[in-house]
Amino acid sequence: MKKYDYIIVGSGLYGAIFAYEAKKRGKNVLVLEKRSHIGGNLYTKEVEGINVHVYGAHIFHTSNKKVWDYVNQFTEFNNYVNSPIANYKGEIYNLPFNMNTFSKLWGVITPEEASKKIEEQRSGMFTKEPKNLEEQAINLVGIDIYEKLIKGYTEKQWGRKCTELPPFIIKRLPVRFTYNNNYFNDRYQGIPIGGYTKIFNKLLDGIEVKLKVDYFSQKEYFDEMADKVLYTGPLDQFYNYSEGVLEYRSLRFEHEIKDMSNFQGNAVVNYTDVETPYTRILEHKHFEMVETNKTVITKEYSIDWTLGIEPYYPINDNANQIIYDKYKKLSDKEPKHLFGGRLAEYKYYDMHIIVERVLELVNKEFPNE
Ligand code: FAD
Repeated sequence: MKKYDYIIVGSGLYGAIFAYEAKKRGKNVLVLEKRSHIGGNLYTKEVEGINVHVYGAHIFHTSNKKVWDYVNQFTEFNNYVNSPIANYKGEIYNLPFNMNTFSKLWGVITPEEASKKIEEQRSGMFTKEPKNLEEQAINLVGIDIYEKLIKGYTEKQWGRKCTELPPFIIKRLPVRFTYNNNYFNDRYQGIPIGGYTKIFNKLLDGIEVKLKVDYFSQKEYFDEMADKVLYTGPLDQFYNYSEGVLEYRSLRFEHEIKDMSNFQGNAVVNYTDVETPYTRILEHKHFEMVETNKTVITKEYSIDWTLGIEPYYPINDNANQIIYDKYKKLSDKEPKHLFGGRLAEYKYYDMHIIVERVLELVNKEFPNE
């Protein structure tokens, strides 16, 4: 009956890299994926000659050369630099907050003028012990940046007013006193030329993958078929929610083909007012500098999450952490199951961290190979 060394639940970055590394070491591997495609949230789909980031904008960035070299063995990355802009009621500002932003906001030119202005704004409304996110944000960057670039966006993201959100959500806000719109400070960044799905085709080449199969539809059957099972789905679901439900925020994406070559002139535009219902618009061709007559855009809406809809951002507050810790204790004792990835660890992880973590697991599983 036993057929596989490893069954891997989930074909996202974590599962696919593990499958690749196990196969490389001669292991017999089966990947189960409940969606109709491989790649998890990194999946890109070609529409009108443009690679559409179906589950939201994904920009690979890292300062870890080992991780960068690792992903570059599967595809070539372009030189895309993430420089989102904010649209506040028709006013355009550069992000992250930098000299371009300050210059547009206040007409200041030198870093000294900008820091003086921010200091003035902060001290004007300083709250000694901030009780909510609004007070915290004003303490950090002052009223103008808060009102135009933080308030509406944050309220849409969390579905609550900033005055009702706890201050700890923003511990610090990066403020940069250079004319530099590069969002990330990392040494390496880019987008895979030809889309992320290409990476997954290579990772899973020659590996048996069953799409549209939910592991839980036949859990016992699959468990018996493998020596070990790597599970990358939601941890609470693995235990049938016995200790409680781990909460998330979710997203809704509206994709649209536009009969024009250039819709917004940038890959990512954040809408920072509260009235516009979506948080951002992506224009996918600008990730890869594609020249075509049409364009594909995606409006991203932040929505409440309930069981059954796609979980995106874990709500890592105290109550959820307590529940997670209980599941973690149980999962540490499982004799044949391994757990990893953003859902099984209930944590927001950027892609480069996922690569680091799964390679740690690979080293642990195959110490001498
Ligand atoms: P996933 O990609 O979620 O893969 C898990 C897979 O398991 C899924 O395919 C799922 O269908 C499958 N699965 C679950 N349960 C079952 C089951 N019972 N049976 C079968 N299959 C199952 N990171 C960056 O570095 N840069 C970015 O710009 C960036 N942008 C992001 C934007 C958004 C909107 C979000 C939400 C995340 C972003 N990330 C970004 C993070 C990135 O998406 C994650 O690091 C990555 O997706 C994690 O991979 P994973 O394999 O852990 O999870």
